Amino acid sequence: MEREDRVRRSDLLNRIAGLKEAFLAAKKLSPTKLAARIRNIGYHCQKCGECCRGEDNSVVVFPDEIRQLIVATGQEWLEVVVPPKEGEWDKDGCFHTLEWRLKKEGESCRFYQNGRCSVYPDRPMLCRTYPFYLDNCELMCSECRGLDGKMESDEADKMAEQLIMRHLVEIQEAIALLERYRDFERGEARKGGGCIVHDSEGEHWIAPEKLMR
Ligand code: SF4
Ligand code: SF4
Repeated sequence: MEREDRVRRSDLLNRIAGLKEAFLAAKKLSPTKLAARIRNIGYHCQKCGECCRGEDNSVVVFPDEIRQLIVATGQEWLEVVVPPKEGEWDKDGCFHTLEWRLKKEGESCRFYQNGRCSVYPDRPMLCRTYPFYLDNCELMCSECRGLDGKMESDEADKMAEQLIMRHLVEIQEAIALLERYRDFERGEARKGGGCIVHDSEGEHWIAPEKLMR
């Protein structure tokens, strides 16, 4: 067991070191060059709402973004977000998972109302930068009807700035999560236990009755 713990600890430290390198690389990204690449691909939102609906709609949000949505909507934490379904149980039957996702109603984001985003000025970074994202500093695109659309240079500049900011925050959040992460003894899957979400602020405990709502 001690050896297993040492291996896990060393794996954790390696991952943190890798993320710190990724952060330094992301800091060197040129917004001008990135904007040129974005404009070359082109994007103009068609307001189809497909990125806010459907089985694949899954928006990862960070604690500060959740608080911003709480202030904007007057709703509670668990009305805004839910823990993801992917995770592991500990020996006491508590489910452990990472990150938060925007809550859905049916297959749609719960803030998608009457064909529009009801929290548009406060929407998370992922929504602001959709359909683009950076993977190891490489520009990537998700499925979107607006790709290939005409884009003004100031729009591309803004998108590039937001994308770099999002990438930096994502890496910082991942580092903080790993630094605060406390491992636990694994157990069997069990219904009716509570849930612990590990995020960049540490551990958030959710009581079983709150999970049922
Ligand atoms: S970002 Fe793309 S998928 Fe989302 S509403 Fe606009 S066109 Fe549709
Ligand atoms: S927060 Fe707004 S933009 Fe983001 S998925 Fe929900 S409805 Fe769509």
